[in-house]
Amino acid sequence: MNSFCINCHTLFSQNIQKWSLNDRRKGLPGSWNLIECGHCGVISMAPIPTEAQLSRYYAEYSNAESIDLSVSVGSRYPRLRKLFHFISGDVDPRDFIKVPIGARVLDYGCGLAGYLNDFHNRGIRISGAEVSGEIVKICQNKGLDVHEIKSFSRIPFKDNEFDIVYLMQVFEHLRDPHIFMEELFRIMKTGGCLYLALPNSSSIWRKVFKKNWVSGWFAPFHLFHFNKKSLSTLAVQHGFDVVKSWSQTPESWFRLNLKALLYPEENQLDSYRSFFDSRIIRYLVMLLLRIIDVLVTERDCLVIHLKKKN
Ligand SMILES: [Zn+2]
Repeated sequence: MNSFCINCHTLFSQNIQKWSLNDRRKGLPGSWNLIECGHCGVISMAPIPTEAQLSRYYAEYSNAESIDLSVSVGSRYPRLRKLFHFISGDVDPRDFIKVPIGARVLDYGCGLAGYLNDFHNRGIRISGAEVSGEIVKICQNKGLDVHEIKSFSRIPFKDNEFDIVYLMQVFEHLRDPHIFMEELFRIMKTGGCLYLALPNSSSIWRKVFKKNWVSGWFAPFHLFHFNKKSLSTLAVQHGFDVVKSWSQTPESWFRLNLKALLYPEENQLDSYRSFFDSRIIRYLVMLLLRIIDVLVTERDCLVIHLKKKN
Protein backbone atom coordinates (compact mmCIF):
# COMPACT_ATOMS: atom_id res chain seq x y z
CA MET A 1 0.00 0.00 0.00
CA ASN A 2 1.22 3.55 -0.70
CA SER A 3 2.54 5.29 2.35
CA PHE A 4 2.22 8.74 0.76
CA CYS A 5 -0.68 10.26 -1.11
CA ILE A 6 0.15 10.21 -4.84
CA ASN A 7 -1.63 13.52 -5.31
CA CYS A 8 -0.52 15.79 -2.43
CA HIS A 9 2.41 13.68 -1.05
CA THR A 10 1.02 13.78 2.51
CA LEU A 11 1.99 10.78 4.64
CA PHE A 12 -1.03 8.55 5.11
CA SER A 13 -2.20 8.24 8.71
CA GLN A 14 -3.57 5.09 10.34
CA ASN A 15 -7.19 6.17 10.02
CA ILE A 16 -7.14 6.38 6.24
CA GLN A 17 -10.36 5.17 4.62
CA LYS A 18 -10.12 1.90 2.65
CA TRP A 19 -12.66 -0.21 0.85
CA SER A 20 -12.85 -2.77 -1.96
CA LEU A 21 -14.95 -2.91 -5.11
CA ASN A 22 -15.90 -5.41 -7.80
CA ASP A 23 -16.43 -4.66 -11.48
CA ARG A 24 -20.19 -4.28 -11.83
CA ARG A 25 -20.13 -2.90 -15.37
CA LYS A 26 -18.07 -5.29 -17.50
CA GLY A 27 -18.00 -8.27 -15.14
CA LEU A 28 -14.22 -8.69 -14.89
CA PRO A 29 -13.40 -11.17 -12.12
CA GLY A 30 -11.55 -9.87 -9.04
CA SER A 31 -11.75 -7.08 -6.51
CA TRP A 32 -9.84 -3.80 -6.21
CA ASN A 33 -9.01 -1.66 -3.19
CA LEU A 34 -9.50 2.09 -2.97
CA ILE A 35 -7.99 4.49 -0.45
CA GLU A 36 -8.97 8.08 0.36
CA CYS A 37 -6.42 10.72 1.38
CA GLY A 38 -7.63 12.57 4.46
CA HIS A 39 -5.64 15.65 3.43
CA CYS A 40 -6.46 16.45 -0.22
CA GLY A 41 -9.44 14.10 -0.61
CA VAL A 42 -8.12 12.21 -3.64
CA ILE A 43 -9.24 8.59 -3.87
CA SER A 44 -6.93 6.16 -5.64
CA MET A 45 -6.76 2.49 -6.39
CA ALA A 46 -4.20 0.73 -4.17
CA PRO A 47 -2.09 -0.63 -5.62
CA ILE A 48 -2.37 1.09 -9.01
CA PRO A 49 -2.62 -1.72 -11.62
CA THR A 50 0.49 -2.25 -13.75
CA GLU A 51 0.50 -1.33 -17.45
CA ALA A 52 0.33 -5.06 -18.27
CA GLN A 53 -2.71 -5.57 -16.02
CA LEU A 54 -4.45 -2.55 -17.54
CA SER A 55 -3.79 -3.85 -21.08
CA ARG A 56 -5.51 -7.09 -20.09
CA TYR A 57 -8.50 -5.23 -18.61
CA TYR A 58 -8.86 -3.07 -21.70
CA ALA A 59 -8.66 -6.07 -24.00
CA GLU A 60 -11.82 -7.31 -22.23
CA TYR A 61 -13.31 -3.82 -22.27
CA SER A 62 -13.20 -3.26 -26.01
CA ASN A 63 -16.46 -4.21 -27.64
CA ALA A 64 -17.94 -4.21 -31.08
CA GLU A 65 -18.97 -0.57 -31.19
CA SER A 66 -19.37 0.64 -34.74
CA ILE A 67 -17.73 3.85 -35.89
CA ASP A 68 -20.08 6.37 -37.39
CA LEU A 69 -18.58 9.59 -38.68
CA SER A 70 -21.70 10.81 -40.45
CA VAL A 71 -23.05 14.24 -39.49
CA SER A 72 -25.39 13.72 -36.54
CA VAL A 73 -28.50 15.70 -35.64
CA GLY A 74 -26.53 17.12 -32.69
CA SER A 75 -23.92 18.67 -34.94
CA ARG A 76 -26.45 20.03 -37.44
CA TYR A 77 -28.59 21.72 -34.80
CA PRO A 78 -26.22 22.93 -32.05
CA ARG A 79 -28.89 24.93 -30.19
CA LEU A 80 -31.21 21.94 -30.07
CA ARG A 81 -28.32 19.76 -28.87
CA LYS A 82 -27.44 22.25 -26.14
CA LEU A 83 -31.04 22.36 -24.99
CA PHE A 84 -31.25 18.56 -24.94
CA HIS A 85 -28.03 18.32 -22.94
CA PHE A 86 -29.33 20.93 -20.52
CA ILE A 87 -32.23 18.54 -19.86
CA SER A 88 -30.30 15.25 -20.02
CA GLY A 89 -27.30 16.55 -18.04
CA ASP A 90 -24.86 15.16 -20.62
CA VAL A 91 -21.45 16.83 -20.70
CA ASP A 92 -20.46 17.71 -24.28
CA PRO A 93 -17.38 19.88 -25.00
CA ARG A 94 -19.12 21.42 -28.04
CA ASP A 95 -21.61 23.04 -25.68
CA PHE A 96 -19.07 25.03 -23.64
CA ILE A 97 -15.75 25.31 -25.52
CA LYS A 98 -15.47 28.45 -27.61
CA VAL A 99 -12.72 28.09 -30.21
CA PRO A 100 -11.15 31.34 -31.49
CA ILE A 101 -10.36 31.52 -35.22
CA GLY A 102 -7.10 29.76 -36.05
CA ALA A 103 -6.75 28.07 -32.64
CA ARG A 104 -5.15 24.62 -32.40
CA VAL A 105 -7.27 22.11 -30.48
CA LEU A 106 -6.53 18.63 -29.09
CA ASP A 107 -9.12 16.00 -28.13
CA TYR A 108 -7.08 13.60 -25.97
CA GLY A 109 -8.73 10.17 -25.74
CA CYS A 110 -11.03 11.04 -28.63
CA GLY A 111 -12.53 7.53 -28.82
CA LEU A 112 -14.89 7.23 -31.75
CA ALA A 113 -14.13 10.86 -32.69
CA GLY A 114 -17.70 12.14 -32.43
CA TYR A 115 -16.79 15.57 -31.01
CA LEU A 116 -13.55 15.80 -32.96
CA ASN A 117 -15.27 15.12 -36.27
CA ASP A 118 -17.83 17.82 -35.58
CA PHE A 119 -15.15 20.43 -34.72
CA HIS A 120 -13.21 19.34 -37.82
CA ASN A 121 -16.29 19.81 -40.03
CA ARG A 122 -16.61 23.35 -38.68
CA GLY A 123 -13.13 24.13 -40.05
CA ILE A 124 -11.37 23.98 -36.68
CA ARG A 125 -7.71 22.85 -36.65
CA ILE A 126 -8.26 19.92 -34.32
CA SER A 127 -6.13 16.83 -33.67
CA GLY A 128 -6.91 13.76 -31.62
CA ALA A 129 -5.09 11.08 -29.66
CA GLU A 130 -6.45 7.61 -29.04
CA VAL A 131 -5.22 4.31 -27.57
CA SER A 132 -6.98 1.96 -29.98
CA GLY A 133 -4.84 1.52 -33.11
CA GLU A 134 -7.91 0.31 -34.98
CA ILE A 135 -9.86 3.50 -34.26
CA VAL A 136 -6.81 5.64 -35.13
CA LYS A 137 -6.58 4.00 -38.59
CA ILE A 138 -10.27 4.49 -39.33
CA CYS A 139 -10.11 8.17 -38.29
CA GLN A 140 -6.99 8.76 -40.39
CA ASN A 141 -8.68 7.17 -43.43
CA LYS A 142 -11.51 9.68 -42.97
CA GLY A 143 -8.97 12.53 -43.12
CA LEU A 144 -8.87 13.26 -39.37
CA ASP A 145 -5.54 14.03 -37.68
CA VAL A 146 -5.62 11.37 -34.96
CA HIS A 147 -2.39 10.01 -33.42
CA GLU A 148 -1.98 6.73 -31.57
CA ILE A 149 -1.20 6.89 -27.83
CA LYS A 150 1.70 4.52 -27.31
CA SER A 151 2.52 5.56 -23.73
CA PHE A 152 0.55 7.39 -21.06
CA SER A 153 3.67 9.24 -20.00
CA ARG A 154 4.08 10.87 -23.40
CA ILE A 155 1.45 12.84 -25.36
CA PRO A 156 2.29 12.29 -29.06
CA PHE A 157 2.64 16.00 -29.98
CA LYS A 158 5.39 18.63 -29.86
CA ASP A 159 5.92 21.40 -27.27
CA ASN A 160 3.71 24.54 -27.11
CA GLU A 161 1.41 23.32 -29.87
CA PHE A 162 -2.15 23.73 -28.56
CA ASP A 163 -4.38 26.63 -27.55
CA ILE A 164 -7.16 24.35 -26.32
CA VAL A 165 -7.00 20.78 -24.98
CA TYR A 166 -9.91 18.77 -23.65
CA LEU A 167 -10.20 15.34 -21.99
CA MET A 168 -13.72 14.01 -21.56
CA GLN A 169 -13.91 11.13 -19.03
CA VAL A 170 -10.25 10.26 -19.61
CA PHE A 171 -8.22 11.75 -16.75
CA GLU A 172 -9.51 9.25 -14.15
CA HIS A 173 -8.12 6.37 -16.27
CA LEU A 174 -4.49 7.57 -16.11
CA ARG A 175 -1.85 5.81 -14.00
CA ASP A 176 0.17 8.90 -13.10
CA PRO A 177 -1.70 12.23 -12.92
CA HIS A 178 1.53 14.15 -12.15
CA ILE A 179 3.42 13.00 -15.24
CA PHE A 180 0.33 13.58 -17.31
CA MET A 181 -0.15 17.16 -16.07
CA GLU A 182 3.52 17.83 -16.93
CA GLU A 183 2.86 16.53 -20.41
CA LEU A 184 -0.25 18.69 -20.80
CA PHE A 185 1.79 21.71 -19.68
CA ARG A 186 4.47 20.85 -22.24
CA ILE A 187 2.18 20.60 -25.29
CA MET A 188 0.08 23.68 -24.46
CA LYS A 189 0.75 27.30 -25.33
CA THR A 190 1.01 29.85 -22.52
CA GLY A 191 -2.47 31.09 -21.69
CA GLY A 192 -3.99 27.99 -23.32
CA CYS A 193 -7.19 26.47 -21.96
CA LEU A 194 -7.50 22.94 -20.61
CA TYR A 195 -10.89 21.34 -19.93
CA LEU A 196 -11.23 18.16 -17.88
CA ALA A 197 -14.53 16.34 -17.32
CA LEU A 198 -14.53 13.43 -14.87
CA PRO A 199 -16.61 11.85 -12.09
CA ASN A 200 -16.89 14.09 -9.02
CA SER A 201 -15.91 12.20 -5.85
CA SER A 202 -17.82 14.78 -3.76
CA SER A 203 -21.05 14.15 -5.67
CA ILE A 204 -24.19 13.85 -3.56
CA TRP A 205 -24.95 10.70 -5.58
CA ARG A 206 -21.77 9.02 -4.36
CA LYS A 207 -23.13 9.37 -0.82
CA VAL A 208 -26.57 8.11 -1.87
CA PHE A 209 -25.42 5.11 -3.94
CA LYS A 210 -22.25 4.24 -1.96
CA LYS A 211 -20.72 1.06 -3.55
CA ASN A 212 -23.40 1.21 -6.24
CA TRP A 213 -22.03 4.53 -7.54
CA VAL A 214 -20.67 2.51 -10.49
CA SER A 215 -20.66 5.43 -12.94
CA GLY A 216 -17.93 6.94 -10.78
CA TRP A 217 -16.12 3.92 -9.34
CA PHE A 218 -15.94 1.86 -12.56
CA ALA A 219 -13.34 -0.52 -11.07
CA PRO A 220 -10.80 -1.44 -12.34
CA PHE A 221 -10.73 1.27 -15.05
CA HIS A 222 -11.01 4.43 -12.97
CA LEU A 223 -7.73 4.69 -11.04
CA PHE A 224 -8.21 8.13 -9.43
CA HIS A 225 -11.24 9.99 -8.11
CA PHE A 226 -10.99 13.73 -7.78
CA ASN A 227 -13.19 16.51 -6.50
CA LYS A 228 -12.78 20.21 -7.14
CA LYS A 229 -10.31 20.60 -4.26
CA SER A 230 -8.00 17.66 -5.08
CA LEU A 231 -8.00 18.41 -8.81
CA SER A 232 -7.26 22.10 -8.22
CA THR A 233 -4.38 21.09 -5.89
CA LEU A 234 -2.92 18.96 -8.67
CA ALA A 235 -3.42 21.55 -11.42
CA VAL A 236 -1.87 24.41 -9.45
CA GLN A 237 1.21 22.27 -8.66
CA HIS A 238 1.73 21.89 -12.41
CA GLY A 239 1.43 25.49 -13.52
CA PHE A 240 -2.28 25.91 -14.20
CA ASP A 241 -4.83 28.38 -12.79
CA VAL A 242 -8.41 27.36 -12.18
CA VAL A 243 -10.70 29.57 -14.28
CA LYS A 244 -14.02 27.93 -13.52
CA SER A 245 -15.57 24.65 -12.47
CA TRP A 246 -19.07 23.23 -12.31
CA SER A 247 -20.81 19.87 -12.07
CA GLN A 248 -23.91 18.27 -13.55
CA THR A 249 -25.58 14.86 -13.31
CA PRO A 250 -26.02 12.99 -16.61
CA GLU A 251 -29.22 11.00 -16.60
CA SER A 252 -27.39 7.99 -18.11
CA TRP A 253 -25.02 7.91 -15.12
CA PHE A 254 -27.85 8.12 -12.62
CA ARG A 255 -29.73 5.33 -14.43
CA LEU A 256 -26.66 3.07 -14.35
CA ASN A 257 -26.25 3.63 -10.59
CA LEU A 258 -29.95 3.05 -9.98
CA LYS A 259 -29.72 -0.30 -11.80
CA ALA A 260 -26.62 -1.20 -9.75
CA LEU A 261 -28.67 -0.59 -6.61
CA LEU A 262 -31.79 -2.44 -7.78
CA TYR A 263 -30.04 -5.42 -9.42
CA PRO A 264 -27.30 -6.30 -6.90
CA GLU A 265 -26.44 -9.61 -8.61
CA GLU A 266 -25.93 -8.03 -12.03
CA ASN A 267 -22.27 -7.45 -12.92
CA GLN A 268 -22.53 -6.53 -16.61
CA LEU A 269 -24.59 -3.40 -16.14
CA ASP A 270 -23.20 -1.62 -19.21
CA SER A 271 -25.08 -4.02 -21.45
CA TYR A 272 -27.95 -4.93 -19.09
CA ARG A 273 -31.30 -3.53 -20.22
CA SER A 274 -34.30 -3.14 -17.92
CA PHE A 275 -37.55 -1.27 -17.40
CA PHE A 276 -35.50 1.81 -16.40
CA ASP A 277 -34.09 2.11 -19.92
CA SER A 278 -37.49 2.80 -21.45
CA ARG A 279 -37.87 6.23 -23.01
CA ILE A 280 -40.66 7.45 -20.75
CA ILE A 281 -38.79 6.54 -17.56
CA ARG A 282 -35.65 8.22 -18.87
CA TYR A 283 -37.50 11.50 -19.51
CA LEU A 284 -39.11 11.37 -16.08
CA VAL A 285 -35.72 10.76 -14.47
CA MET A 286 -34.22 13.69 -16.43
CA LEU A 287 -36.85 16.06 -15.10
CA LEU A 288 -36.44 14.80 -11.55
CA LEU A 289 -32.64 15.18 -11.77
CA ARG A 290 -32.87 18.75 -13.06
CA ILE A 291 -35.00 19.68 -10.06
CA ILE A 292 -32.57 17.97 -7.64
CA ASP A 293 -29.56 19.58 -9.40
CA VAL A 294 -30.95 23.00 -8.49
CA LEU A 295 -31.01 22.03 -4.82
CA VAL A 296 -27.50 20.50 -4.54
CA THR A 297 -24.03 21.90 -5.27
CA GLU A 298 -22.00 18.70 -5.82
CA ARG A 299 -23.27 16.77 -8.85
CA ASP A 300 -21.94 13.67 -10.60
CA CYS A 301 -19.74 14.97 -13.42
CA LEU A 302 -17.14 17.60 -12.56
CA VAL A 303 -15.94 19.92 -15.33
CA ILE A 304 -12.93 22.11 -14.66
CA HIS A 305 -11.58 24.84 -16.94
CA LEU A 306 -7.86 25.50 -16.36
CA LYS A 307 -5.46 28.00 -17.91
CA LYS A 308 -1.72 27.53 -18.42
CA LYS A 309 0.06 30.22 -16.40
CA ASN A 310 2.46 32.74 -17.93
ZN1 LIG B 1 -3.63 13.71 -0.75
